[in-house]
Formats: sequence, structure tokens, C-alpha cells
Amino acid sequence: MSEHEFKAYNKKSLNKIKYLDRIDPEIKKDIEICTNIIPFRVSSYVIDELIDWDKVPDDPIFQMTFPQPGMIGTEKFNKLKFLYLNGQNEDFNTEVRNIHFAMNPHPAGQKDMNIPVMDNRTLPGMQHKYDETVLFFPSQGQLCHSFCTYCFRWAQFIGLQDLKFSSREKESLYRYITINPLITDLLFTGGDPMVMKASVIEKYVEPFIQQKPDHLQNIRFGTKALAYWPYRFFDDKDSDELMRLFEKIVDKGYHLAVMAHFSHYRELETPAVEKAVKRLRSVGAQIRCQAPLIKNINDKSIVWEKMWKDQVKLGAVPYYFFVERDTGPKNYFEVPLVKALEIFTNAYRNVSGLARTVRGPSMSAGPGKILLEDINEINGEKVFVLKFVQSRIKEFVNKVFFAKYNENASWIDDLEPAFGEKEFFYEKRYSELRNNKINILKNCVK
Ligand SMILES: *Cc1c(COP(=O)(O)O)cnc(C)c1O
Repeated sequence: MSEHEFKAYNKKSLNKIKYLDRIDPEIKKDIEICTNIIPFRVSSYVIDELIDWDKVPDDPIFQMTFPQPGMIGTEKFNKLKFLYLNGQNEDFNTEVRNIHFAMNPHPAGQKDMNIPVMDNRTLPGMQHKYDETVLFFPSQGQLCHSFCTYCFRWAQFIGLQDLKFSSREKESLYRYITINPLITDLLFTGGDPMVMKASVIEKYVEPFIQQKPDHLQNIRFGTKALAYWPYRFFDDKDSDELMRLFEKIVDKGYHLAVMAHFSHYRELETPAVEKAVKRLRSVGAQIRCQAPLIKNINDKSIVWEKMWKDQVKLGAVPYYFFVERDTGPKNYFEVPLVKALEIFTNAYRNVSGLARTVRGPSMSAGPGKILLEDINEINGEKVFVLKFVQSRIKEFVNKVFFAKYNENASWIDDLEPAFGEKEFFYEKRYSELRNNKINILKNCVK
């Protein structure tokens, strides 16, 4: 029998969160208004065990889950608030829409480039950007136990982005992988696949257990459940069933990777998360941890240093340190690249080699994942040293290149090539690929 029944609050049940009665009623009203813009959902675990209510509104976990006026911008927020208090009429709805579209709901505009093609049709529940790894978005997993205010997939939670799932997604996934020998990794993502019942996850995984394609080595689950609902792994009604499924995946010879999203060391401090990590490790899962750097939440090197140390202590592996994408409340959350490198480096220097498995600051951009490796001076010119650690064009991987030093830049798009060059080395081939509209690399020849 489970002791912790999953419970989450949303926009409509905000008033039922008792702790909110302890804060200034004006701040509470502002949050309520903000939930019309930024998707809001928060689990009882986050409220009861993670947020330090004495430190609200500055508390990092509160910032991570409760929408704030600053995320919308003072001017826009004030207008919204005026319309809200005046009765939420058509003008209010128009303003909500305007704010949403100004928040860049489709970053990088390369949705189409990642959608695979098979048997002359596109497979919309999947993304295939890098040869080795297919992302699968199961339709029942397009939700999370709590929403992050900085989520780059925010648009899908308010119906602005339609992922258009196909009814035959399970069969398509298996077939697509079996006929693509370059694929070694299958990554279940969302939303959060861990919101699905074990029996639903099993339906998707079952063909891969029935018959393992030789070239498929790794099955990954991208999840924030360890941070937002660790009970998922030992105290939900079907936790045991889920663990048995994980064991079956491992027994079949796959490397099972839980790609955990941890943004702050506080998320690693509860007895529940410790128990969940132990349970996962006991069934043979490897836990790798990643998160973006977010202003007002984790923009101090001590946060990362402590978090990486805590992860290693629990037997989890630090993996990626991301730069926040160009979407959503970007201004509120963005950290300049110079500062990102400083935070990363100061934390990296203070941990042992066991935690230096982490890579960053990493930008998941159109052509690939680009690291800011260093700031240097070459022939009298101050430059950013950048490197591809992942790319849709294989020859780019592990290539170093240079951009003009730029104190204010917070994304690759803000950068210009160094040494007077007209464009970055990757731009010609990348734009050729982009002009083909569909991702010819991932088009099955069959
Ligand atoms: C990050 C990412 C992956 C996985 O990359 P790894 O470096 O292998 O972890 C796969 N697909 C997409 C679209 C990604 O952004």
C-alpha cells in the first residue's frame, strides 16, 4: 500500500495550497495572474518537502515552479494585471496570446528537421537529430509531475504546440529502429515518461524485450521525477511493476539510463530521493544528471559544486550543464555565456575527477550541441573557444572553432566568427541541410 498518493495543484487549485496563505496576498494574486501565461503544476512533494517557505519568493525551488511577474516583464505584467482585475474579457485573452507569441514558442524553428521519415511518411511522435539517438515522445507521457517555469517545452503544455501523435506509434518506433543500424540509443522523453503507468511504458518497451535489435544498446528515460516525485520509484501503486520492467530491460542486455533532471542540490537532500536513487541503482539503472543554468535558481557555482558532489555520493553521474534555450521567460532566466563559463569552471575546479564527467556550458543549437570551452587571446584577439560535442553532421563532432569575445552574448546566435571570418565553418553545410526542409540524413532508404 502506498503512503504517498500523488497529488498536484494547478491554476484552478492554486488557492488550496495552504502555504500560500503565509505570503503577502498581493504576491499571491500576482502568481495567480502569471499562471495564465506560464504553465503551472506543482506536486505536493515539491510543496511539502522541497520549498523552504520561509524564503519565498526567493527560494530557488519556488522560483522553479511558481510563475512570477518578473518572468513576464513589468510592463506586460502590469497591463495583464489591469485587464485581469477588470474581468478577464476578450482583451485579456488577446493580451495572453500576444505575450505567448512574444515568448518564442518554437525555438530554433527546426522542428521539421528532426522528424524522421519512413515508408514515405513522417513519424511525428519522434525526433531523430543525431544518428545514434532517437527521441520518442509517447502520447501518454506529455505531462510532468510539476512544471518548471523555465521549461523549453512550455508551449506544448498550453496547447500552443501540437505534437500530432500517430495511433500506430508503437509499431513505427520499433520498425524505425530495426531498419536503422546507426541507432544505438532510444530515449523516451516528454513531458516526462515517468508520469505513465508502468503498464503503458511496458507496451512501448515490450517489442524491444521480445526481440532486441542488435544495434540498439541503450534505453534512456529522460525524467524530472527524481526531483518532483521520487515516490514514483518505490511508493506508487505500480512502483514494483516499474522496477521489474527496468530489470527486464537490463536482463535483456541493454544499458538502462535514467537521464535525471536536477537543478539544485536541495532536490538531492530528501530521504525520498535517496531511497529512489538506491532503488534505481539496485535494479541496474545508471543515473546521469543534467540541467540548464538558470538565473534566480542555480546561477552560483557553489550550487553546482554541491550538486555534483551529492550526485557522485549517491552513485549518479553528472552529465550535461546546459545553457538555457532561447524561449519562454528568457530575459528573467538568461545568464550571459561569460558568466556561465565562470560558474561552470569554478564548480568544476572544486570537484574530483569523478564529477568531471559533466560537460558544459552546452548549447543545444540547430547544428548540434556546442560547448563554450574557454575564453582565450589568440594573436591579440580575445575569443570564445567553442566545440561541437554533438552534431547532426558527424564530421563536426569534436571540432573546435572560435567566436569574437562578446560579454553580453547568451546564445550562439549572438556570436560572430573571430579573425574577421564571414561565417562559422559549419554554416554552409548546415544551411544546405536546412534548405532541404526534411532531414535527409534520417530518411530511411528502404
Ligand atoms: C542532447 C540530445 C540527444 C542526446 O545527446 P547525447 O550527447 O548522446 O546525450 C539526442 N537528441 C537530441 C535532439 C538532443 O538534444
